[in-house]
Amino acid sequence: MVHFVGAGPGAADLITVRGKGLIESADIIIYAGSLVNRELLEYAKQAREVYNSAHMTLEQVMDIISSNSDKEIVRLHTGDPSIYGAIREQMDMLDALGIEYDVCPGVSSMFGAAAALRAEYTLPGVSQSVIITRMAGRTPVPESESIESFAAHGASMVIFLSAGMLEELSGRLISGGCAPDLPAAIVYKATWPDEKKIITTVEGLAAAAKRNGINKTALVLVGDFLDGEYERSKLYDPSFSHGCRRSTE
Ligand code: SAH
Repeated sequence: MVHFVGAGPGAADLITVRGKGLIESADIIIYAGSLVNRELLEYAKQAREVYNSAHMTLEQVMDIISSNSDKEIVRLHTGDPSIYGAIREQMDMLDALGIEYDVCPGVSSMFGAAAALRAEYTLPGVSQSVIITRMAGRTPVPESESIESFAAHGASMVIFLSAGMLEELSGRLISGGCAPDLPAAIVYKATWPDEKKIITTVEGLAAAAKRNGINKTALVLVGDFLDGEYERSKLYDPSFSHGCRRSTE
């Protein structure tokens, strides 16, 4: 049995209780060494073998899994495995091999970053949607999902895997319709001890990253949710009734 487990954004105590339990009882751990906090491996009391997948190909990962399919295997991915986690290709191979698996969610870095900034992505009167995207790198992004087209929505944006391309990102956000002085933030290593968070503007992104020596392991957040006016929520509005509460006005 293989358990795909979300390790959380960084801080070891941000793994889920279920994820921790799966690590504790695993025989074999294969972890994404580039971003998973090694402190989590201390929970691996039973594990006889621990592999860092940063040095491995998909085929090598599958070889280890298929030759140990009678064991409890944890495949530990950073954040939540469903976001840029490359788990689908692994699950499809496991299906073909007839090996069972399940998925344990994790706290994505996009939530670690919002917590670090004490921000809310979905502010009434500002934005009720979050766009999760990236710049094209070795993995292409479909034409219909260009940064320009997303920028035109004015929704809150979280941009992964793009910290080394901020000059281009700013240009494309602005040509898509973002004001150059629209609030933007860079959160480096959210929830790790060396976390850095920088509030800037869309046009200031590249310079802010350069000043702080950031070119990887960072998220870029863009939108008015980072600063400025908003409306109160209806949920806690005294004049508004809903299923759980009568209006008091
Ligand atoms: N599944 C992960 C994302 C993996 S892609 C998740 O849910 O968070 C790797 C990218 O995620 C990095 O390039 C960076 O953009 C972002 N990332 C991962 N951990 C981060 C952290 N602690 N702080 C900021 N960005 C992070």
